[in-house]
Amino acid sequence: MISVPQALDTVLNQTFVSAPETVSILEAAGYVLAEDVHSDIAMPPFDKSTMDGYALKASDVAAAPAILKVVGVIPAGAFPEFEICSGQAAKIMTGAPLPKGADTVQIVEKTAAAENGRVKILEPVAPGKNISPQSEIIGLNEKVLSRGTFISPAVIGVLAAVGKSEIKIHRRPRVAILVTGDELVEIQQKPQAGQIRNSNGYALYHQVRDCGALPQPLGVAPDQREALRTKIAEGLQRDVLLISGGVSMGDLDFVEEVFKQLDVNIFFDAVNIKPGKPTVFGKRETTLVFGLPGNPVSASTIFEIIVKPALRKMMGHAQVHNLRWQAIAANNFDSRTRRDNYAPACTYFNDDKIMTAILPSKGSSDILTFARSNSFAIVPGEVQKIKRGEPVEVVLRDEFWKSNSKTGRAA
Ligand code: AMP
Ligand code: MG
Repeated sequence: MISVPQALDTVLNQTFVSAPETVSILEAAGYVLAEDVHSDIAMPPFDKSTMDGYALKASDVAAAPAILKVVGVIPAGAFPEFEICSGQAAKIMTGAPLPKGADTVQIVEKTAAAENGRVKILEPVAPGKNISPQSEIIGLNEKVLSRGTFISPAVIGVLAAVGKSEIKIHRRPRVAILVTGDELVEIQQKPQAGQIRNSNGYALYHQVRDCGALPQPLGVAPDQREALRTKIAEGLQRDVLLISGGVSMGDLDFVEEVFKQLDVNIFFDAVNIKPGKPTVFGKRETTLVFGLPGNPVSASTIFEIIVKPALRKMMGHAQVHNLRWQAIAANNFDSRTRRDNYAPACTYFNDDKIMTAILPSKGSSDILTFARSNSFAIVPGEVQKIKRGEPVEVVLRDEFWKSNSKTGRAA
């Protein structure tokens, strides 16, 4: 049995970043850049007025109020060919290029109209005021974005500004999801004696999708070697195959046996973690294969802790690991296992402290407690009891950011 960090290392060592693909800027958000991006222009491309006002020479208004002759009007989008001489000003709009000869802009609020095409400048203004100099934001040919950058809407704005309508990204891995078990029935059915509904297929579908990969459900396979072989062979055609169930020690747990028949190279089949000990990881050619335990909380936990970092690596993320924080236990907790316990927890801010309430869970089928959690509290195998106020390491899930009302103050 290997430790969680060893399992994660093994998986990440076998995981490679997906080949680049080109997508349109309208499709690009949510991917990771597979290229460095340089700017084909300077930004701003000229000395630009950042306010509506009058372009002028600062020395002309040092003893303001002063009257200047208005020699032109410069709207945004125009390019002034004339030059400002001493005693002159040009009316200028936000975003318009500064005319030659002017070295500052006085805002319109500090001016007043005067007779005969003149303007009264009410206050002095320092040279360079209300001007964004050429290249202030981005220089010509400057590298503006690096490979590995997550493409947020703000990054899309930069890509558009520097002229990239098509972008090289790392493609999303296609993740086959196969659930196994003779006891499983679909959502629409009322389970009869001995049956349960297939919940893992749906939870895993969304876990895959939430981290940016493409879920491809393969349906439910019964606990029979032949049927499993057909489905698993189909799943091996994808980038990743996730299987739930059939990996424990039961008489009908055939998944690992079928992996071997299909030449899947097995790297480990047990991890020192609770929940989720009977986790299988293998590879055939370039396909990563994960056999997850059938218990729903185990399957989802192993996905978060071991599968998700691999998917992030495939998608080119610079940061593949889950966020881990040091928190303070908000309650006492009995671990009741010698394995590293990844217990469902609710992590939150209390003033400047990060607190975590380790939830009392009824175990690896307690989907309700799991759904109320937003993180895992890690209680190492050698620790049996956590006391309120003691430090605990937590792994944050997306739920921490998305659904916890106590996570912070308004910005
Ligand atoms: P297994 O790992 O196949 O021994 O399954 C362990 C437990 O998880 C059993 O109680 C199964 O009924 C349950 N289980 C297996 N697959 C699913 C599933 N797709 N959805 C919900 N529970 C499941
Ligand atoms: Mg089963």
